[in-house]
Amino acid sequence: MLLRGGTVTTAAGSSRADVRVDGEQVVEVGELTPRPGEDVVDATGCLVLPGGIESHCHLDLECGLGLVTADDFATGTRAALAGGTTTVIDFATQFHGETLARGLERWHEKAAGKAVTDYAFHLAMTQWQPSFAAELADMVEAGVTSFKLYLAYRHSMMVEDDEVLAALQASAALGTTIGFHCENGRVIDALVQAELADRHTGAYYHPRTRPAELEREALVRLGVIADLADANHYIVHLSAAQSAREVRTARARGSRLVAETCPQYLVLDESAYGVPGATGDAELAARTAVMSPPLRPAADQDTLWAALADGTIQFVGTDHCSFTLEQKAAADAFNTVPNGAPGIELRLALLYTYGVAAGRLTPARFAAVTSENAARYFGLYPRKGTIAPGSDADLVVYDPAPRWTVRHEDLHDGTDHTPYAGLAIQGKVRDVFLRGAHVVRAGEPVADLPRGQFLRCGLPDPTIS
Ligand SMILES: [Zn+2]
Repeated sequence: MLLRGGTVTTAAGSSRADVRVDGEQVVEVGELTPRPGEDVVDATGCLVLPGGIESHCHLDLECGLGLVTADDFATGTRAALAGGTTTVIDFATQFHGETLARGLERWHEKAAGKAVTDYAFHLAMTQWQPSFAAELADMVEAGVTSFKLYLAYRHSMMVEDDEVLAALQASAALGTTIGFHCENGRVIDALVQAELADRHTGAYYHPRTRPAELEREALVRLGVIADLADANHYIVHLSAAQSAREVRTARARGSRLVAETCPQYLVLDESAYGVPGATGDAELAARTAVMSPPLRPAADQDTLWAALADGTIQFVGTDHCSFTLEQKAAADAFNTVPNGAPGIELRLALLYTYGVAAGRLTPARFAAVTSENAARYFGLYPRKGTIAPGSDADLVVYDPAPRWTVRHEDLHDGTDHTPYAGLAIQGKVRDVFLRGAHVVRAGEPVADLPRGQFLRCGLPDPTIS
């Protein structure tokens, strides 16, 4: 197959070139002449991007009390594919009392035969046990080289500072990395109890109990501990301007720190939480924005975009964790609303529209933060993350011309709303190829999607910027 006439755009730059695919791999990039019998796909006027890599999603996640995310691996990865993401790195999760191997085994069962993107796993640990130090090495053998711990969610997943140190020391010995949910869980707990005592139960109070200072505090505390252990660490879903400034300082000091942010923190803001005392549909709409960390003031966005452009933040995942409106409505108060929102399908379109078209990101930086940097950090490069001979033919044809407005009915996920409804978008994912298979045509996934493969991750490249 020859993908002809497009502007091939990778982290290294952007230039007019044709891409030849043989089987599952790219074999040539340059000015190429079609061969007799070769399929030719015209990409004139379009960007040709490396398949997107979703660094942060929660598919088929059990959240306690019988609650499961609205998307499983079938619907979630189909939506990802429609949006130009060909690899997802989901958070396999070890629940209390389980070994890491058991958590990973269950996630293999969830994904196998269902995922229609390629997939890899991080391993999220809901506690830290001394025995895990040895189990981390088994995970590396099994192709998992990134882990996650929570500094928030007291009484369910939060770990203490001494446990953070032990985990980071064990990880450093292996050269793996740990992603941290950085918010101070104890202070949040106190703020939540205070609001509830005042009968403040609406979603309006969610961001008021999780101020940005508590992300910054957790990030700084983590940084001190990680520097003592000389350990790779990264902050998942960085949400606030003041946190981005701390990351810049830490990286300048030589910390082995990288950062991920999410589209919601770049384009949505805390006005989504509405007003105090909202009821009915207004309260339900506010609940769709209940996620942690919460959306921040719009004034933070310029700092986050600048940090993404200048290498302070290296990649963008969505934290796709979808619930239906019914699931969101069932809770008694803001602190029991299931946390999370869908976003996996719109990552490239949002980053293109509000990044590239708005003049905040170069096309090359767009490719870096949506694909190559995650591939490098999670040990999938150069098989994934770029367009070069020998790489997997994971290719996205992005047509920059169409203008459209987000409506949930045009998306492919398993939920029933999107927090991005009404946003104007420039450009559209037109075609997607996964290891050479033409899986999205004219913006729609084909009927018989081939199944994705499990990808074993190598060790992180902590030098990405
Ligand atoms: Zn998450």
